[in-house]
Amino acid sequence: MSADVIVIGAGYAGLTAAAILAHNGVEVQVFESTGHLGGRATFDRKDGFLVDYGIHANRLAGEGAAAAALREIGYEIDFVEMGEGLLWWEGSFVPLPTDVPGMLKTKLLSASDKTIMVADLARLVLANPVSKADVPLHDMVWGADRPRMAMLFKVLAGICLVCPDARTVSAGDFAAFLKRALKAKENVGFPRGGTSQIVEALSSKVEENGSFSLNTRVKDIKVEKGSVVSVEAKSEISKARAYVYAAPLQKLSAIAEGLTQDFTARCDSIVPTAGISIDLCLSEKVSDIDGLIVTPDPVTMGQFTSNIDPTTAPESKQLATFYYPLPVETMDDRDRVEAEEKRFRGLLEDMFPGIMSKIEWERALHLKMVDGFEPRVGQTSKDRPGVAVPSARNLFLAGDSVSAIGSGGDVAFNSAVEAAHSVLAFLK
Ligand SMILES: Cc1cc2nc3c(=O)[nH]c(=O)nc-3n(C[C@H](O)[C@H](O)[C@H](O)COP(=O)(O)OP(=O)(O)OC[C@H]3O[C@@H](n4cnc5c(N)ncnc54)[C@H](O)[C@@H]3O)c2cc1C
Repeated sequence: MSADVIVIGAGYAGLTAAAILAHNGVEVQVFESTGHLGGRATFDRKDGFLVDYGIHANRLAGEGAAAAALREIGYEIDFVEMGEGLLWWEGSFVPLPTDVPGMLKTKLLSASDKTIMVADLARLVLANPVSKADVPLHDMVWGADRPRMAMLFKVLAGICLVCPDARTVSAGDFAAFLKRALKAKENVGFPRGGTSQIVEALSSKVEENGSFSLNTRVKDIKVEKGSVVSVEAKSEISKARAYVYAAPLQKLSAIAEGLTQDFTARCDSIVPTAGISIDLCLSEKVSDIDGLIVTPDPVTMGQFTSNIDPTTAPESKQLATFYYPLPVETMDDRDRVEAEEKRFRGLLEDMFPGIMSKIEWERALHLKMVDGFEPRVGQTSKDRPGVAVPSARNLFLAGDSVSAIGSGGDVAFNSAVEAAHSVLAFLK
């Protein structure tokens, strides 16, 4: 089998890189180890429900990374605007303050806390994210040790960067996100039809000038004299002029032969975000909330997806999804994860009494990788490998653990756009 470019992995990153290449007249062959497209952003159709794999909203909606990536292939994502975010606080829901006007209005902070909070946000927005990359958020904000402000910083780091720990999360990454959010007019958007809209738009573009090999795991990438010479999947050798590796970097060393040890060690050491995700298909409606729902202790987040986008559930029913971030090392301790899941379910029942009795179908996932990297000190974009591979000139990297702006899906899209353009320049 041969093509101009071989792409390994059909998640958001592989699909985006392949779609941009196909759009630019390059013939692509995409190898995907599972039987479905979308990777961690896959979706299921089930008894009238359209269920994403957990929460899958797009930061900054039309001004975010997904929208910019899809514009490269001439596609405008149709976003549904989400309602106001709510925080579960002392037994009821209060507006979740996410910006300066919200901080000034909130009843959660005293007048003196508000002054400090606004000053902290201003210092973060004015900071140089690169110079603050190795500073934990806790060490940069004056309010870190005042309980209510500490709670809000934990919640904000949780929802913006999936790293609800001010002592770990990078102040630089947090500041960079705040700067982008401040400039953008949109906050967060849900793609109508969920991730299916994005996955289908990208995959139909790929099919215009390429094809997918599903259930085809690449088990060897052979590098000789500074170039990839072939890949092997299903005992077949395939060759191309360039290759895009768009699977998690942590899995690269297991299949690549001939890359430097320094480089593969750096890939192996990247710590992802993790946690428990619960999707619920409910027999009747239990809430009319149409924005993000956040709890502070522990930090969890969720949404009634079908209140945001009614096309995701039958009319009289409801689709909801909730996520509880946990450190990845916790996920190996089965008893602890089961205890945390019980606590999580208790929290859901406290917020929405009776919800558990209305479940028609549910999926509880214990995930060792949610986002490809946790934006903590020591693994910000300056520390992670970029799109180009020093020891293989025709190999390019894309995916949500590669060095690119943002976190989670944003990094998958941004790195894939950069990888596709690097491939186009290389092929010239
Ligand atoms: C529950 C959950 C909720 C999330 N919520 C959000 C959110 O709200 N917003 C957001 O921005 N991000 C969110 N994310 C993160 C987002 O899903 C990921 O950042 C994004 O999907 C990563 O895309 P990717 O293409 O880099 O990697 P992946 O999706 O992991 O794709 C890699 C693909 O490569 C395939 N593969 C691996 N090895 C091989 C091989 N050897 N040969 C062939 N194929 C291979 C895999 O099967 C997979 O399909 C969430 C993730 C989860 C799990």
